[in-house]
Amino acid sequence: GKELLNVEDLTVRFRTYNGEVTAIDNLALSLNENETLGIVGESGSGKSVTSLSIMGLLDEATSTISGKALFKGNDLLSMPEKEKQKYRGNQLAMIFQEPMTSLNPLHRCGKQIMESMLIHQKISKEDAKKKAIELLELVGIPAAEQRFNEYPHQMSGGMRQRVMIAMALACDPQLLIADEPTTALDVTIQAQILELLKDLRKKLGMGIIMITHDLGVVSEVCDRVIVMYTGKVVEQGAIREILDTPKHPYTEGLIAAIPKMQEQKEPLNSIDGIVPRLDDMPKGCSFHPRCPYAMDVCKEKRPALSDLENGRKVRCFKYSDAAEAEVKE
Ligand code: SF4
Ligand code: MG
Repeated sequence: GKELLNVEDLTVRFRTYNGEVTAIDNLALSLNENETLGIVGESGSGKSVTSLSIMGLLDEATSTISGKALFKGNDLLSMPEKEKQKYRGNQLAMIFQEPMTSLNPLHRCGKQIMESMLIHQKISKEDAKKKAIELLELVGIPAAEQRFNEYPHQMSGGMRQRVMIAMALACDPQLLIADEPTTALDVTIQAQILELLKDLRKKLGMGIIMITHDLGVVSEVCDRVIVMYTGKVVEQGAIREILDTPKHPYTEGLIAAIPKMQEQKEPLNSIDGIVPRLDDMPKGCSFHPRCPYAMDVCKEKRPALSDLENGRKVRCFKYSDAAEAEVKE
């Protein structure tokens, strides 16, 4: 497929009481039409910041963004806010973990789906309503015409997530960013929503970026995956290869933490320790305090992202020389 999004050298810094911290460090990614890319990592790894910066939703008073995010050749990062607004909710759409944060509790669900069509498209109210009902049907909401008039609180969590997806699809987006879209849902509903997203991608040919802490979710829907840790890509490649032969110790840990269906929701093997704070990064490889393979060099130098075969990349001294370590700063 054609390239839809190409992100280069994306760096995001936050201003904090303790000075500037780097939340995203030189990230690169690309996405084609009709492709699903997973971005995986624990909370604090930078995956949401990545999507918010691409969408232009970070607070500019406290953050600095540099690099490029070319959407069909147009740089989302350098265009004026007015122009960005034309893309957001239109060609670019986003869905979040908790539908209640993006659904207005005071408005009927159907009205909310109509709203973005009326803002972004030349469409009559009548046609917008017709399309909203079609969208509710498309996302698998039964009795769509009646449910059009319901308020968010009248629906179950799974149904609300479907309404939010319908809302995101209202203007036929070419790129959909889904940030933990199934995390708040139980296993059965989660599987249904993932099935729905797969189905919609096939029908509509969108590019999807799926952000999640759960490699199991990624394995269901994604073609390629980027694994992030402390704002850096630590591994990337085709999902099958990564699951079959993970290279980075962090990826190994995430795979061990995939909750097994039917088993309890808490993963049995989670990775020891926690993601370090942005203002308290360990020297050397930021994963070394948690890494079962850490060597002396890992405490001193920062591994660079190196290329392996088949477009795979990994950032780890198990696969690269200390001489190739990152030198900047
Ligand atoms: Fe572990 Fe060293 Fe690789 Fe970092 S560079 S992931 S500490 S082996
Ligand atoms: Mg997040």
